[in-house]
Amino acid sequence: MSTETIYIQFACGDMERREELQALLLPYAPLGFLDEDTVWQCYFDRASWEAAREGGILDRFAAMSPAHPVDVMELRQENWNRAWEESITPIRVSDRFVIAPTWHPAAPEPGVIVLTIDPKMSFGTGYHQTTRLMMRLLEGAIRGGERVLDVGTGTGVLAIAAVALGAAEAVGVDTDEWSKDNAEENIARNGMEGRVRVHHGSIEHADGRFDVICSNITRNDNIAMFPAFAGLLNPEGILLLSGFTPADLDDIRDAARAEGFTPLDAMLEDDWAALDVRLSTESS
Ligand code: SAH
Repeated sequence: MSTETIYIQFACGDMERREELQALLLPYAPLGFLDEDTVWQCYFDRASWEAAREGGILDRFAAMSPAHPVDVMELRQENWNRAWEESITPIRVSDRFVIAPTWHPAAPEPGVIVLTIDPKMSFGTGYHQTTRLMMRLLEGAIRGGERVLDVGTGTGVLAIAAVALGAAEAVGVDTDEWSKDNAEENIARNGMEGRVRVHHGSIEHADGRFDVICSNITRNDNIAMFPAFAGLLNPEGILLLSGFTPADLDDIRDAARAEGFTPLDAMLEDDWAALDVRLSTESS
């Protein structure tokens, strides 16, 4: 019984409270978080959740905002799966793309590419602003024939989208061990075997040079990786970045310029930002 996984769903829409909750929950060794537009969930093995309850976690939630108590729901796996599946329906993420799960196929529409993505525990379903922003930037970046690196590939969605737009091949890397298997399933579902490859880890798996790099990770990880990105890109290479807020844009642009990139357009959705930066020939 102690290995049973307990999924806790919080009725908690706003991001700031999600961060506060996450900080309270972290000391109790959660197995993971699911952070999407419509749901925020945390999962524990039963023993850890019991320890959190005994440690007074529910009182601390109540104290956080007495007027808007956090609604805690313990879901058994089978109910959690159902709630999760019902929350994921086809979503139009950009001009060209609809993302749909296998259990809810999308109706075909002329000119629209349907990607079939089953997310499981990985990130990248189209239900997060940063995924949608990256898809829109990719539409502007892929002309045909590119080699693409997708850092933090999650479900593989951006790598798959890049090839669907005409890239010759894409390599995805992710430090999360769930991601490789999940991305490989999604690659097969979309008929992209051989054109999209994924590795567990990070950019040490990047082989050769790339025309486009997608990196939807955190602000600090993106900034730390700029020198590596510059070294992995071909001259005139394109770097598409997200995972940060509009307030971070100035720091991201400064870090980009320091490595010879020219920042182009920023795109915003809610409190998330994405940025297209390019290597210019004169600085390479
Ligand atoms: N590319 C997908 C998923 C982004 S979520 C999308 O745009 O929707 C970010 C992912 O990056 C997570 O799966 C996380 O495990 C992974 N990640 C975080 N830091 C990383 C790093 N330094 N190298 C590789 N992957 C990383």
